[in-house]
Amino acid sequence: MILKDIFRVLSAKIRLEDSFRNEPYGAYNIQEKDWDKEVKRILFCVTATHQVIEHFHKEKYDLLIQHHPFVVSGIPLFIFHTALDCCADGHNDMWSEALGVKNAVHFDKNMGRVGEIDPISFEDLKAKCMGLIEGKEILGYTYTNGEPVKSVAICSGLGGIDWEAAEASGAECYVTGQLLYPDHGKFKHIIELGHTHTEFIGVRLIRKLLEGSDVQVDGASLDIDYYGEEVCEGRDRGSYEWGNDWGTAIEKFITICDAGWMGRGKTKEWGFHLFECDAEGFVSKKKPITTIYAPTKTEARILAEETADELGYEIIEPIDEEEEIVRV
Ligand SMILES: [Zn+2]
Repeated sequence: MILKDIFRVLSAKIRLEDSFRNEPYGAYNIQEKDWDKEVKRILFCVTATHQVIEHFHKEKYDLLIQHHPFVVSGIPLFIFHTALDCCADGHNDMWSEALGVKNAVHFDKNMGRVGEIDPISFEDLKAKCMGLIEGKEILGYTYTNGEPVKSVAICSGLGGIDWEAAEASGAECYVTGQLLYPDHGKFKHIIELGHTHTEFIGVRLIRKLLEGSDVQVDGASLDIDYYGEEVCEGRDRGSYEWGNDWGTAIEKFITICDAGWMGRGKTKEWGFHLFECDAEGFVSKKKPITTIYAPTKTEARILAEETADELGYEIIEPIDEEEEIVRV
């Protein structure tokens, strides 16, 4: 199957209009000019870590579909990010279906899902979640005396940024990949699955959409595909820290985003992160990420551009390939 046809099939379902185009992280990118390139094997990953890229080259894949919007130079790449989270049958739909959420509705724009479930004990719900992520450890907290769970809000990935809307939905339990704070707010139960754990299931949709074609779709293994600390295993909620170990092929890079996304919750400020990779290409906790804030998006951008020039960082933002998308 040629690249153009693969994109056509995938983008009909994982649609540009489902992505958060106005957010810097809402990327929907295509990095490959050769639309007639023959593709036989696709590798899907959540985050293109150093090991994922190594695996891609070693196994001679033709196309990388990366969930997260990180630029990786020199390889054919599709990024769907928030479109894959939010489209029909995307991550959030898959999770709601798996957990038996009835009449699931969005709790914020086209993000997340919320609805009732058949009453289930917290322990059983937690076990159900673990079964869906190949038995990986997860974090779960319950703040009742054994009350069953009757409703669930679900948000794949960094659901901590959509905390307020999830809370306002009135759900008893929040199931998400990654939280920002130790607080449980109005929720009676919290299940934190690990960021990648909620998103690696995206490979199932890609595979399903290309079923019957001659294209093989593999998922990168969770041993090499990770984002941040995943589950903050053994970590005391009181000393919760927001950590990030984004794997990327770029050595020094900047991302511009609103402060809510950056972990400052309710403020309206903008800012950017400076990331610096270690010798192996990873942002390491040994080299802490610097975060700089500005009152507006424009000011954040000006500051980011100045900093990038001065210190030799590359600014990462969605590549605007809309023209290409239209052409296909
Ligand atoms: Zn994510």
